[in-house]
This record gives sequence, C-alpha cells and structure tokens, in this order.
Amino acid sequence: MASRSVKKILVVGGGTAGWMTAAYLARWLENTNIQVALIESEQIGTIGVGEATVPGIHQFIRDLDIKESEFIRATNATFKLGIEFSGWAGEGQHFFHPFGGYGVPIEDRSFHKTWWSAKNQGYALGLDKFSLCTQLARAGRFAQPSFEPESSLAWYSYAYHFDASLFAKFLRSYAEQRNVTRIEGKVNHIQLDASSGFIQSVTMESGLVVESDLFIDCTGMPALLIHKTLGVGYEDWSKWLLCDSALAVQTKSAAEPDPFTRSSARTAGWQWHIPLQHRVGNGYVYSSQFTSPEQAHRELLGNLAGELTTDPRLIHFTTGMRRDFWYKNCVAIGLSSGFLEPLESTSISLIQTGIAKMAAFLVNFEINETRVAEANRLNRLEYERVRDFIILHYKLNGRSNPFWQHVREMAIPASLEEKIASFRASGDIKEEEQESFKADSWISMFYGLGLAPQGLAPLADPEKAPAILNNMAGAIAKGCHYASSHADFLKTLGN
Ligand SMILES: Cc1cc2nc3c(=O)[nH]c(=O)nc-3n(C[C@H](O)[C@H](O)[C@H](O)COP(=O)(O)OP(=O)(O)OC[C@H]3O[C@@H](n4cnc5c(N)ncnc54)[C@H](O)[C@@H]3O)c2cc1C
Repeated sequence: MASRSVKKILVVGGGTAGWMTAAYLARWLENTNIQVALIESEQIGTIGVGEATVPGIHQFIRDLDIKESEFIRATNATFKLGIEFSGWAGEGQHFFHPFGGYGVPIEDRSFHKTWWSAKNQGYALGLDKFSLCTQLARAGRFAQPSFEPESSLAWYSYAYHFDASLFAKFLRSYAEQRNVTRIEGKVNHIQLDASSGFIQSVTMESGLVVESDLFIDCTGMPALLIHKTLGVGYEDWSKWLLCDSALAVQTKSAAEPDPFTRSSARTAGWQWHIPLQHRVGNGYVYSSQFTSPEQAHRELLGNLAGELTTDPRLIHFTTGMRRDFWYKNCVAIGLSSGFLEPLESTSISLIQTGIAKMAAFLVNFEINETRVAEANRLNRLEYERVRDFIILHYKLNGRSNPFWQHVREMAIPASLEEKIASFRASGDIKEEEQESFKADSWISMFYGLGLAPQGLAPLADPEKAPAILNNMAGAIAKGCHYASSHADFLKTLGN
C-alpha cells in the first residue's frame, strides 16, 4: 500500500480519550495546516469515571505546556503517591505500592536483596521504611520531589486524582482555543471507500456529513468505528481478570484528602477510594460470577465514610484489548481500544501512550502500513505487560472466600508465570520491552503479597548491614518529617 497523506483528522467521541487526543493534536499541529475536529454527543454522554492516574501524566501536561498549578485548580486535583492495598494479602493486612524506589544498592547488590537477607537474619524494619514515597503517604504528607535529588533515597514521583468531567472541560477549552472544531450530535452512519476499505466520512443524525483522512475512534466501549464499522475484533481477557462490573458513587469528603488511592479487597473484588479536593470517588469493582448487584450495592454502601452525593451507578465491562488499535485510517484511543480494569489506574496512561504512538508513527503525516503494523505490535506488548501486572495482584492474594480462591488457583499467562518463578528463585525481575511498571513496582507487589526470593545468599557481613539499613531508614524518616501535610501543600497552590 502506498502511504496516504493526512490533512484532516476527525476525533469521534468527547470523553477523556476524545478531549485528551484533541488537545494533544491541537498543540502538536499548531503550526501546520492540518485541521482537527471532534464530534461528541451530550445525549449519549461519557462514562464519567477514571479519576486516578500514574506519574506518566506529567508528560502529557508537559506536552501541552500547561502549568501544574493551573491544572490542579481547574480539575480540583489532589496528589497521588501510590496505592494502599488493604486486605489483599489477607484480612487486616496492608501494603503500599509507591511511585518510587526502595533504598539504595549496597555493594552492587539490589537493595531489596540485601534487605531480605538481613530480614532472614533477624533484621526488624519492613520494606516500607525504605521508601520515602510510602512514608510520606502514610503520614498524609506531600512534597514535590527534586528533579535531581542529592541521594537516590529521595527519588520518587507522583500522579494526580482529578475530577474526570472537569478534566474533559479543561481540555476542551484548551483544544477549542487552538482551533479544534467541536461538532455536537450523534454519528449514526459511517461511509467506507469501496476499493480501499478506508473510512471516508461520518454522517450525523442532523444529516451533516463530515469527511476526513484520519479518524480517531474515541466512542468508548461501543467502538463505533474500529469495531462496529471496520470489524476489528476484541481479545477477551476475562478468564484472567474476572471482574466485569463496577458500582460507582460519589461522597462528600469525610476527612482531609489522602495523598494516595485506597484499594480495599472485598468479597468478590475490591473497592476504590479516590479523594479529590471537593469530594471522594468510590466504587466497587466485582465479578458478577461471585456476587450479585444487590449484594455488591450493600457491601459498597456499608463501607463508605462520607454522605452520598450521587446514586450508585452500575457499569459493565469486559477486560481485554482491541486486536489492532490502528486499522487502515482509524485509530482507537481509550475504551474503544481496550480496558484492563481500574486496579492500577492505567487507562488514562494507555490513552496517552496510544496518542503518542499514533503521533510517532504518523511520520510526515502519512499513513503507512508498515508503520501501522509496528505501532500495533508495540501497543499489544504494552497492554500485555500491564495485564500481567494486574493479574499478579489477584494471583498472589491471601484471602479465603470463593472469588479469591478461584483467582489464586487459576492458570495465568506464561509470561507472568516466568516473572513470578524468576523472582521466587533469585529475586530478579526481568524488564521487558514496553513495560509500564518497572522493577520497584513488581517488588512492592511481590513482598506486599507475601512472595519473597528463596535462593538468596546470606549476608557476608551480617553485623554491618543493619547499621547501613538503619541509616537509610533514618534519612527517609527525617526527609518525611520536613514535608508539609498534603492539605497544606494544596493550599500553597491556591486551592
Ligand atoms: C469503573 C471504572 C473505573 C475507572 N477508573 C479509572 C481510573 O481510576 N483511572 C484511569 O486511568 N481510568 C479509569 N477508568 C477508565 C476511564 O474511565 C476511561 O479510560 C476514560 O474515561 C476514557 O473513556 P473514553 O473517552 O474512551 O470513553 P467515554 O467516556 O465513554 O466517551 C465516549 C464518547 O463518545 C461519544 N460517542 C459515543 N457514541 C457516539 C456517537 N454515535 N456519536 C457521537 N458521539 C458518540 C460519547 O458521547 C462520549 O463523548 C475506569 C473505567 C471504569 C469502567
């Protein structure tokens, strides 16, 4: 196929994916003649959830050249240092997945190996004490990390919790100020070019026909363009990720916002708690094979701290990915390209990396089959790596009721089997191509869920290590002490 030139781009859908794409394109194409338009339907609306992020979001804010304080004010955002997992390793147990590392290597040995060997020889302090990010979160404190910390003990990152509807509104205004044309209404027909099979135009309910060269499918789960029109199938991963439903509800804040997301294990899934400045987002993600909507409703309402401000809303989903996120002249971004359940807040990040891949492989603003194939290969790898990381949370759980037993005993992808086996044997974590979660994330999950390496050599000098470890923990405790409370930090930004 010869390359096809792109002079017009049409985004169909105005949820988080649609407006993130439109805003990015607006900025990227500012000095070109390429036109960008977005169609959205108020009547259909958006999914309205998706409020926790991962640190990659900074790249998006930088790409758009937005000031962080402006973004935080506009979206009522709070800071997120990681996720607290309660009850996953067993009733009453907690661990933290921080956006940062643990300790520093001692004599060229990975920190966690030294710590675990010391622990086996009687050392008392837990892994959490060696993560500044975790210590800040546990103390309800926040400080902006230094770009060039004096010690790698001080290295960590952070993300945000924000109001999804305010985020879309903010991006809409950004995009419209940069010449993105918004078209209100419902698309009800899509025309294909008979010879190439490319999308030619979409027809709106009003009769308006909108032509374009490249179409971005941001229509959410229905995937109107990539699936319903072009027939690109979906790879269903629900045999590994059993949760298929969520009840979402908002409450008033009952306390100062935590600088982290809470994920608490429940009977047939888990509950999220996402604190914003003005309210809290809550939800119960569960498997409909193991509980009913009525039981889930009762369980969710029985575990909320603040007064309800919305009615619980039931959302169904199928975890998995679109076989190709880019097909002919259509790119699927957002829920139309797949969904891996919200356990590690990865959807918005996958939107971002989807946009980045589209931009990187649209060389000279031309659609080229070879490049499209490479973009699809990378996208698949990225999804599979995230999938494995999320399955790990379930596979190593320490709970006893039927859902949790089932997910502990289920067969898992070979790629994840290998990762678990390698860590169990030697404490090594092999970083794969397109891996979103780096070694420290895997370390936090393995130890947090009770898996430790079996074959580590004992410390050569067991007298020396505790003093070095204590020094590190002491420095972290001191660093944490200097940070202000999360609530006070937000006030310094004018919130
Ligand atoms: C329970 C749950 C919790 C989640 N939590 C998180 C989280 O914490 N963090 C995270 O990163 N992600 C999370 N996600 C995912 C996140 O919500 C989505 O990735 C994000 O909102 C993007 O959605 P979207 O824009 O693809 O789809 P939608 O929000 O569904 O938007 C679809 C858009 O397409 C338009 N549309 C559809 N059909 C037509 C048509 N025929 N004509 C015109 N317009 C049309 C709609 O009007 C709408 O504007 C969560 C998802 C679920 C289900």
